[in-house]
Amino acid sequence: MTTVAAYAAPAAKAPLERTTIERRPVGATDVRIDITFAGICHSDIHQAEEGWGESIFPMVPGHEIAGVVAEVGSGVTRYRVGDRVGVGCFVDSCRACEYCDQGLEQYCVEGMTVTYNGLDRRGEPTHGGYSTGIVVDERYVLRIPDSLPLDAAAPLLCAGITSYSPLRRAEVGPGSKVAVLGLGGLGHMGVKLAHAMGAEVTVLSQSLRKRDDGLRMGADHYYATSDPATFENLAGTFDVILSTVSVALDFDRYLALLKPGGVLANVGAPDDPVSLNLFSLMTGGRSLVGSMIGGIPETQEMLDFCAEHGIGAEIEVIRAEEVNEAWKRVVASDVRYRFVIDTATI
Ligand code: NAP
Ligand code: ZN
Repeated sequence: MTTVAAYAAPAAKAPLERTTIERRPVGATDVRIDITFAGICHSDIHQAEEGWGESIFPMVPGHEIAGVVAEVGSGVTRYRVGDRVGVGCFVDSCRACEYCDQGLEQYCVEGMTVTYNGLDRRGEPTHGGYSTGIVVDERYVLRIPDSLPLDAAAPLLCAGITSYSPLRRAEVGPGSKVAVLGLGGLGHMGVKLAHAMGAEVTVLSQSLRKRDDGLRMGADHYYATSDPATFENLAGTFDVILSTVSVALDFDRYLALLKPGGVLANVGAPDDPVSLNLFSLMTGGRSLVGSMIGGIPETQEMLDFCAEHGIGAEIEVIRAEEVNEAWKRVVASDVRYRFVIDTATI
């Protein structure tokens, strides 16, 4: 066992505080990682506040993990001590079902083992990246390309892949008109990635406050959803809308912005259900699809794509003791565009 420093929520809605946790001994196919940076995802907050249902406490959140390999098990073949690596939203799965076989471990029939707020295959609670070290089977570890700084790469492990996967599935490329709804952690990655894929990109944000940033990141157009004219002017415009909004929305209003045959890909995970008028889908043969993170092969593909296109997250690196304040700012949509904890400060 290795003892590592961590930040944990002791109970639902309680502020995070410094603690220590034990990591399992390094098994034959395990990699022990010295974590250097951990991104703050809005999902950390939903779970610590039990917005999605009952959670496991104490909770060490964090599924945007970047660091360096410190030790490898005797059977590890893919990684060596010193390699730059990442860990995302899951650390295990059944490894035998048709989805695991296809590299869609996030849809494992037995359920993926989530990086934190879950139980591992032995029934022990999992703890995430707001800590100084983690032990993960090499099958669930990603390689961070040398050209990507570790701090800006950490958010790619969730925000990056969650935006990348539905854009790929919708076959976004040159000629595609893509709208990204919500310019936060996921949304800003969606803008950068869709732009790099060659699409014409529009940001739909609550206000024009972040317009200059959005255009600098690669958006071609930027509109405020607080302005009713946005909905009149953009009716029937987009092939794909990527919704990254963390609260329940009136999806009918947004489906009307799709072209016939268009797809609204939702990745936002609000605490509350949404209601829908099915005529919004039938009219124009439009689709509403969901997407959850991405499998290991596609996550590696996304990291390599980001390296090739020079894409990292826009980050604000914080000290661990600033985490509670940072969470408040995420909830207030006051993040530009991802907080990343420098884990050396834990
Ligand atoms: P975030 O940084 O807080 O971004 C969410 C954005 O939603 C905000 O920046 C804001 O954009 C917009 N928004 C917030 N409140 C709003 C409101 N009342 N009305 C309209 N828009 C609002 O969060 P994130 O980390 O990107 O995560 C976004 C959501 O995706 C969360 O629910 C998270 O749990 C979920 N998620 C899902 C997956 C998955 O696999 N599907 C993975 C990771 C995260 P503007 O300020 O531009 O309006
Ligand atoms: Zn996340």
